[in-house]
This record gives sequence, C-alpha cells and structure tokens, in this order.
Amino acid sequence: MSLKSFNTYFVLITLTAMTLFYIYIAQLLQNNIQKQVHESVRSSAIELRQQLLSSFSTLQQRFVHYEEMSLLKLDTVQDAINSDDNSTDLVALALQINENVYDGHYEIYIIDANKTVVESTSKGDIGLNYSEYPYFSKELDLLQRGVIDLKISAPTFDEYALDIAQYYIKPLNDGRWVMIGFVLAFNDYMDYTVEDHQEVFPSLQALDLFILTYDNIQHINKKAHTTKDFKSASAEKEHYASMMMKNLKLSPSQDADVIETIASYFTHYTLVPLHHDDKTSSTVYSLVTSSFENPSDDFMLITKMEFDQQYFLRDYDELKNLLYLFVSFIFVLMLFAFIFVYKFVILRISSIVEKMHADDVIEIDGFMFSEFKFLLKRYNSFLTGWKNEVKRLNNITMQDELTKCANRRYFNKQIKAQIDLYKRYEQPFSMIMFDIDDFKMINDTYGHTKGDVVLVNMSKSLFKMLRASDILCRIGGEEFAIILPETDQEDALKVAEKIRLHVANEPYIEESMISISLGVGSFGQGDDFNSFYTKVDAALYRSKNSGKNCVSGIA
Ligand code: GH3
Ligand code: MG
Ligand code: MG
Repeated sequence: MSLKSFNTYFVLITLTAMTLFYIYIAQLLQNNIQKQVHESVRSSAIELRQQLLSSFSTLQQRFVHYEEMSLLKLDTVQDAINSDDNSTDLVALALQINENVYDGHYEIYIIDANKTVVESTSKGDIGLNYSEYPYFSKELDLLQRGVIDLKISAPTFDEYALDIAQYYIKPLNDGRWVMIGFVLAFNDYMDYTVEDHQEVFPSLQALDLFILTYDNIQHINKKAHTTKDFKSASAEKEHYASMMMKNLKLSPSQDADVIETIASYFTHYTLVPLHHDDKTSSTVYSLVTSSFENPSDDFMLITKMEFDQQYFLRDYDELKNLLYLFVSFIFVLMLFAFIFVYKFVILRISSIVEKMHADDVIEIDGFMFSEFKFLLKRYNSFLTGWKNEVKRLNNITMQDELTKCANRRYFNKQIKAQIDLYKRYEQPFSMIMFDIDDFKMINDTYGHTKGDVVLVNMSKSLFKMLRASDILCRIGGEEFAIILPETDQEDALKVAEKIRLHVANEPYIEESMISISLGVGSFGQGDDFNSFYTKVDAALYRSKNSGKNCVSGIA
C-alpha cells in the first residue's frame, strides 16, 4: 500500500470517527439538557406550589374564622327581615353586618320559591335564577326538603376564583329565602400574578389558579355513597371538570389525560404534577386538596403553571456551544495536521521517489525534516559518486584516451543507433570521415609527441565548433568520423567544408599547419552499416586522390 492511499484511508476513517464522536456528543448533550430542563421545571413547579400553598392555608384559616361569625350575622339578618314586613333596607342591613369585617364583605340576597334572586345588595345578581346553576339548584332543593342545613358553598367553577364566597341561607316566614354571602378578597391572600412570582421564578410565563370548594366534591361523593348511583355522580364530576377545563383553557382532544386526571382528583388527591412540553415551554398542572394540608376541608387548589424552557437552557446552551466549539476546533486542527503531513511528508516522499525513478539528484529546498535531509544528502552523494563512476567506466570503454573523442566502439554503437532511427522514423543522418593529410610527415619532422599535440588540439577545437548532438569519433590513428543526426547530405557538405577551412587555418602547433581530407555521405534507402561506411570512406579517398585538403560527397 502506498503512503498516499494509506493517508486517504486514514483521513477518511479519522474524519468518520470524528463525525460519529461529534454526533454522539450532540446526542448526549441533547438528552442531558432535556433531562435537566425537566428536573428544573419540576422543582420550580414544586417550589411555586409550596408558596401558593402557604398563602392558601392563610386563606383557609380566615374562612374558618369567619364561619362562626357568618352564622351569627345570618341570624341577625333573618330576624330583621322576618320582623320587618318586607320593607327592610338591605343596604343599611349590609352596612350593619359589615361593621368590623376587614378581610372581605357580606352581600345579602333574597331568593323566592322559584330560586330567583329578587332583591340583593349585589345588584348584578338580581334576576339570577339558581335553577340554572346545577350545584346551587341541588343545594336549594336539599335545603327545602330539610336534608341539609344552612350552608351552601361557593360555585367557583363559573370563573376564576378571584373572590371566594361562602353562602349561608335560611328560610323567611313568607316562603322566600334569605342568603348572605361572605366574599373574601382572594387577591389579599394570594399573590397569584405572574409578575409577583417572576422574581423568584424568572422562567414563569403564565400561572392560572383555580379554587374549588371542597364542599362541592364532598357533596357529590356523599350523595354517591348514599344513593349508590356512582354513574350520575361521576357524570356530575365530569360536568364540573369540564367547567374547570374551560377556565384553564384546556382542550379535550389535546389534554385528554389532563381531563381524566382532574376528574379523578374529585375523589382522590395526589400531588403528581403533570408535565406537558412543547419546544419552548413546559406546562405543569398541580392539584392540592386542603384536607391534605389543613383539616378544615374547605378548598381544592388547581394550578396551571407555564415555564419558559429557554430560560433553563441558557446556561446549557453556553456549555453546548463551548463543547461544539471545542470539538470543531479539534476537527479543524486535525484537518490542518492532515494537510501538513500530506504536504510536507507524503507529497515530499512521493516526489523523492519519482526523482529516484529518474536517477536524478534530489534538491533539498524549503522546509524539510532533518532526517529527510540526512537521507537525501546521503542518497545524493551516493548517486553522484555512482554516476561519476559510471561516467568514468563509460569513458574508459567509449572514449579515446588521448583526444577525448568517442572511440571506435562508441562510433559503431552510435552509427547502429542512427540506422535504427532512420529505419523506424526515417530520421536522416549524415557522416563526415576525415584523415589528416601527410601526418606521417608531422611525426617524422617534429616527433610523435608534437603529433599527439596536433591530434589533441584539433579535437578540442572541433568540439567547440560542432553542435552538442554531433558525435566526434576517432576511428583510427589520425582518422576521424563525425556523426550528424537529423542532417541531410547538403548540410553535411557545408559542415565538412566549414571544418576543412577551420582546420586549414588553425595553428595546432607553432611549427606547422595541417590540413584534412574529408568524405561526406548521407544514409539512404538500401544502405546498411558496411555499405554506408564503405561509401563515405571511398569519398574520403577521392578527396585524398584529388590533391587533399578538400571535401567529397558520396557518389
Ligand atoms: P596521407 O596524406 O596519405 O594520409 O598521408 P599520411 O602521412 O597521413 O599517411 P598514413 O595514413 O600512412 O600515415 C599515418 C600516420 O599517422 C602513421 C602514424 O605514424 C601516424 N599516427 C597514427 N596514430 C598516431 C598517434 O596516435 N600519434 C601520432 N603522433 N602519430 C600517429
Ligand atoms: Mg593521413
Ligand atoms: Mg591515415
């Protein structure tokens, strides 16, 4: 496996693992946050309920206190009306019974045999027919038949129990009823507004209180026990429950479980808060019967509390964002690390390996780890040494030691290579063969050493003249050949003439000038090595025979 593909797999696996880790953290946080919010809402609800309960119990104590007083006041009112042949001033009577009553006030009602309020200090109630109020109607019937005595509790289902009343009723001489209602200002005892509680519970969005007089429930339950008609008792309870639901703005379809629970509270009291969550808020229903907290058995308190979930989420959101930021940071860091490793290790190694394939010296530039540098330096020095050695050996086998021209062996090899190229690609090439004129005379006159100097200097000067692609070979004692790749005969003749002139005018030794005779030929169809060599050699001899110091082309 190559480093590149290893790296790709590694990156893919790591990024996948990181993503899964990211999702896991997010899930974990989400679950934990939800749990925490639920717990916070629940504990806030319980605390708020405790606060309301303590106010609630004060309220109950006030009612217990007024219960006895109310019976005395009812006697006074009954006596006054009975003795007064129908002309009692109810307002004056009310003023009288309200003396020294500070927590609330009394209203007086006269009710006729049809259960209609015919006269009252509470003007809005005149004309009310209590037969339309199921609970009042039943209570009045029971009173009429002497089944129960005196007291009717407050029908607080009708609206929010902002004022709570206890009603006491007695018959008058003429078949009518007199009723006093003691109204206790609920506001004075219970801070039920959201604003009042928001200081302690900043998450509180809405708070609904509903007070149910316990007598109503007792009545229904008692009746069910005596009549054994549990069916109609439960129907009656459902009726009250639906009234409450209306006031608490519950819808039967959505809050079926709440309805059931409220209905069940008519007979069983439990303190399990009901939780309803949507994305932004939590609603908690709570129900308390007074008998649980206080033995006066008078009230039942139902609360609907709505809490802002976002409030609880704020701290967690910060923590969540911090964690996400941290994970993202690690993510980016790893990405940079991958890029760094890729750029400075993997790509470097790949390019080094490529260079190694080409047997090139590897450049050490830019940032590089010291181990790399060491390895590359060693590699480069080995490579250079090896190349030099190869060159040296090559020179030994391919180069003429004296003139540094290619030797006969190399000449043969190159000619064959050129013939191959010609045959495969029809790439033309030419050859110049030349021989120094009367060289024997130089040797004989100035000595062998001078003759050597001529050979060396001439070769040097020819190297300078020729193209890099031209191959100058020494094929005999003072016989040379030049292979001219991609050159036709015409151009080769020009080159030959140029060489001839150059040699004739260049003093290679002080003592004497030399000249050369040249034969020139271009490789053609039907030629092979031997025939071509022979042709050019023949051209050379034509030049010799034509008086030397001249150029001849092949026939
Ligand atoms: P021609 O014009 O006909 O070529 O006459 P030439 O004197 O050059 O004749 P020939 O080819 O017979 O002689 C070549 C001479 O070159 C013979 C030999 O002494 C000399 N020679 C060959 N190799 C070397 C060498 O390596 N060094 C020296 N100094 N002389 C060499
Ligand atoms: Mg010669
Ligand atoms: Mg010769």
